[in-house]
Amino acid sequence: MFIVGILNLQGAVSEHLDITKKALINLGIDGEARTVRYADDVSECDCLIISGGESTVIGKILFERGIDKVIKENNIPVFGTCAGMILLSSKTDYDQPILSLMDIEVGRNAFGRQKDSFEDTINILGEDYPGVFIRAPVLRSYNENNKNIKVLAKYDSQIVAIQEGKNIAMSFHPELTDDTRIHEYFIKLVLSD
Ligand code: GLN
Repeated sequence: MFIVGILNLQGAVSEHLDITKKALINLGIDGEARTVRYADDVSECDCLIISGGESTVIGKILFERGIDKVIKENNIPVFGTCAGMILLSSKTDYDQPILSLMDIEVGRNAFGRQKDSFEDTINILGEDYPGVFIRAPVLRSYNENNKNIKVLAKYDSQIVAIQEGKNIAMSFHPELTDDTRIHEYFIKLVLSD
C-alpha cells in the first residue's frame, strides 16, 4: 500500500494529514496518510510531507533521530511547506540543521512577522490557488544549471514554489485551505515514472 508520511515533530501536522487523506480519496489511490515521528516510521513511507512550524526545532529533532539518513538512503520524495521548504534547502540565512535535498537557497521570514500573515492568489503552472503566507520563507536562488529543477510559482516576482525531481518546496500553506490539488500533484509526482 502507498503510504504518505506526515512528519509529526512540531508544527501544522493535522491539517496536512486531513488534506492528504482527501487527496488520496480524490485520486482513488489505495493509500494511507499517517503521521510519523521516528526514523523507523519514516522508512515505511513512499513519500514524506514536512509541515510549517519552526524549522530550527523540526531540523534539530530530525537530525537527532536520524530521520535525515533514512530519507536520503531510501530516496524518499519530500514535500515541504514553509518551515518544510527551509529544511529542504541547501542554504539559509541562518545557522541551522537542514536536509540539503534541493539545490536552492532560501531566506527565512521574508514576508514579515506573524502579524503580517496574508492570503493571496498564487498561479501555479497556469492554475490559480489560494496561498496562505505565515512568516514565510522566500527562495533567494536556485541552481539554474540543474535540469531537474522546475519553478512552479512566483508571487510579486519572487519564487514561492519550486520542484526538483520529486521534491517540492513551497513558501505558503496549501494545507490551511480546502484545496487538495497541490497534495494531489505531489502524490501523482511520487507515483510517476
Ligand atoms: N519562520 C518559520 C521558520 O523559519 C517558518 C514559518 C512557518 O512555517 N509558518 O521556521
